[in-house]
Formats: sequence, C-alpha cells, structure tokens
Amino acid sequence: MLGPPGAGKGTQARRLAESRGVPHISTGEILREAVQEGTDLGRKAKMVIESGQLVSDEIMIGIVNDRLDKDDTRDGFLLDGFPRTVLQADALDKMLGGRQPLVVIDLSVNDDELVRRLSTRRICDSCGAITGSLNGKPAVVCDTCGGSLKQRSDDREEVVRQRLVVYRQSTEQLIGYYQQRPTFRSVDGSQDEESVAALVGAAVDGVAA
Ligand SMILES: [Zn+2]
Repeated sequence: MLGPPGAGKGTQARRLAESRGVPHISTGEILREAVQEGTDLGRKAKMVIESGQLVSDEIMIGIVNDRLDKDDTRDGFLLDGFPRTVLQADALDKMLGGRQPLVVIDLSVNDDELVRRLSTRRICDSCGAITGSLNGKPAVVCDTCGGSLKQRSDDREEVVRQRLVVYRQSTEQLIGYYQQRPTFRSVDGSQDEESVAALVGAAVDGVAA
C-alpha cells in the first residue's frame, strides 16, 4: 500500500490486513524489531540510524526479505512503507518469485486536503495520542486522557507542503513503475475512513477476481 503522509495509509493498511487475516508488515516496525533483536541487519541499521542517516535500500531490502521468509506470510501479507524506491520495488518482485500477484494500492488524496489534515492534527502532551480535526478545527483536549494538545513542528503548514513536495518527487518513479500493471489500483483516499476501507477492499477483490 502506497500513499503520501496524511492519506491514512497506516490506518487502512491495518484494517485491510486484519480483515484479510494476513500480517501487517510496517517497515517502521520491522526495522525497530530487527534493531531490538540484534540481527546482523538490525545491527547495521542501528549504526546508520544513530549516525543520523537514512537506512539504505540494501539494508531495507534485507530486513523485508527476512520478514517475508517467516511462515505467517504464506497466505499473503500487507506491506506498509515498502517499497519506497524503484530499486526496492525491483527487489520485491524478485523476492516474490512465484508468489504473485502483487496488488498495489495507491491511496490518492490531493495536497490541499493533506495539508488540511496534517496541519490541523494535534499530539497529546501527556499520552502521545494523535487527534485529528473536528470540522476543520484543531481539537484542544485529548480524547484519550484529557491532556492538552500541541502541534508537532513538522505538521506546520509550510513544513507539510515541503514534506509533500519531497514525497511526490521521491515516489514519482515508483508510481510510474507500478502504474502500467494490471494489478495497480489508485483509490480515492479523500473520504472518511469507512468509505475508503470499502473502496480499498473492493479494489483488492477486483484484482484478485
Ligand atoms: Zn492524551
């Protein structure tokens, strides 16, 4: 599953994986796991992260490859956060071998809506929960614990716009790589969570049929 920041990719990925009974493989999480478990790749990743750099394609591919080797992926899996580059996409095709088809869902939301969503969300000072906006206005009090809410510095509008420019630039080639495939689906992610989940489910069923 692909999508820009603010498109609801994590939420939709979790829902879809749960409804299909397959593991939700989020690269953020498996990277943290590999670092904790202290695998060869985990130790390499740790050094890179601690030096403030981005984890290379090579390390990321290795970590995903290790994860896809586990038994629970036999009947399918959902990848969230991978691939991010054409090189990773190419490696994924090789890892899959005969385990096709790879269904690619791109959650599509226009930049103005993404800016509205990200610049109005707030994070709780006490429990860290993230609260979206109500009718376009930022919430003031945490739903979970009643704590006070703040805006993360990278959710300020001008920073969000810049993040989106970087996202579009870095994924343009990747989308192009997948777009021509019969298993690629662009799903309108601008609606509410339930509606988008229904669209995503229908898109997956449409490819599998
Ligand atoms: Zn809270």
